Amino acid sequence: MNTSEIFERLTAKYLHQPTFLQAAEELLNSVAPYLQAINATESDYNLLERLLVPERVISFRVDWVDDTGVIRTNTGYRVQYNSALGPYKGGLRFDPSVNEDILKFLGFEQMFKNALTGLRLGAGKGGSDFNPKGKSDNEIRSFCRAFMLELYRHIGIERDVPAGDIGVGGREIGYLYGMYKQITNSNEGALTGKDPLFGGSLGRTEATGHGVVYFAEAMAKQHGFTLAGMTAVVSGSGNVAEHTARKLIEFGVTVLTLSDRGGYIYKATGLTNDDIDVVVKIKKRGMNLNELRLPEVEYKQGTPWRPVLAAMYFPCATQNEVAEQDAQTMIKNAKLIVEGANMPLTDKAVSVIREAGIPFAPGKAANAGGVAVSGLEMAQHASHLAWTRDRVDTELKSIMNNIHSLCVENGQTKDGSIDYVKGANIAGFKRVFEAMKKLGW
Ligand code: NAP
Repeated sequence: MNTSEIFERLTAKYLHQPTFLQAAEELLNSVAPYLQAINATESDYNLLERLLVPERVISFRVDWVDDTGVIRTNTGYRVQYNSALGPYKGGLRFDPSVNEDILKFLGFEQMFKNALTGLRLGAGKGGSDFNPKGKSDNEIRSFCRAFMLELYRHIGIERDVPAGDIGVGGREIGYLYGMYKQITNSNEGALTGKDPLFGGSLGRTEATGHGVVYFAEAMAKQHGFTLAGMTAVVSGSGNVAEHTARKLIEFGVTVLTLSDRGGYIYKATGLTNDDIDVVVKIKKRGMNLNELRLPEVEYKQGTPWRPVLAAMYFPCATQNEVAEQDAQTMIKNAKLIVEGANMPLTDKAVSVIREAGIPFAPGKAANAGGVAVSGLEMAQHASHLAWTRDRVDTELKSIMNNIHSLCVENGQTKDGSIDYVKGANIAGFKRVFEAMKKLGW
């Protein structure tokens, strides 16, 4: 058996899940030479084939009441991918695009990301096709409570610990956890991203974005330069984009853009923290970036990848937002490309960037700071202690630097450059694979 045969069989079975197949193919391509080098046996390949399949996919009906008193119905999901290293762990996404394909891709990526953190975390992902856009606070609360009415039976501190993702922030986690506490009559921290008032960790909200920049800093250092004085294009205007942009500003980077589904904002002299405060405020009110009015800030429709040239690119919105042609423009100036979102580059865009030899960090390595601090939140909750923001930040930096070292160690190429995709895939895979073997799975 070999990885090509495994991928052929996977494709035949899951042709209707192209996003999952995209993620699986990348992983298989990375680990193929590693498996050859260790003289992998038939039973190793057999185990690899098993690792591609989630342990459990749960789907359920969610009935909630809108503001006119009408009962609405959505589909909820939890993909419990792999528990070899610890409880299933990964976010919940509320967006109309959510389906089993998207959640399997996200859960699969999560498996290797969580392994890279070195923490005792398995992998999962979940969510619903519920669209939070334009919903009142009362409707969001009604939906969250209805969603938890089913989800609670599948989660728990040693079973499965969900967190946020697109469309699920601090408010939604609060409503979900509020319902969980009431149904189970417990204070088990079965969700992360909670408010520090009831067991959350300081620094969790910012962790993904800050971790992205700590990873970029380690990459820059590895390649003999620093971030200060460089320009950056950041996409998205949600949690990851906001905190990536703010940390870049702190590092002396000129952040040229932020974006949403409609278009992007551009400021030639660099967005300031005050500008970002206004972006966050209007986004919280459900407004779009085209309604933003700020001095020197222009709004343009579409994506920033081709029109805006910068030294660094941080796609922080969603999967497959950067296409092959975008990548062909980006490589003209780029010194660094770091994924803040999960798989924001298409496979063809990744090939363009890798062939151009530009240091490129995949999301499963660069955005692992969020789940890492979720792991720290679990430790704090279990010990009834709250760490200071500084302690959390120090731990986050150390985890991101460790992940960078793992990528360097496992991503060496013949020409002496570092292939971060290969490094992250092999390092994450090795941990899950070894654990499954030792557990007799
Ligand atoms: P978020 O707060 O909901 O923000 C998502 C942002 O992406 C919004 O600006 C949204 O635009 C934009 N967006 C969503 N779908 C889009 C689409 N189809 N086209 C263009 N823009 C789109 O979510 P987030 O937590 O920042 O997550 C962003 C990414 O990071 C996701 O890939 C997520 O899986 C990943 N991630 C998140 C975390 C975390 O801790 N939150 C951790 C690791 C990875 P609108 O404002 O128009 O909706």
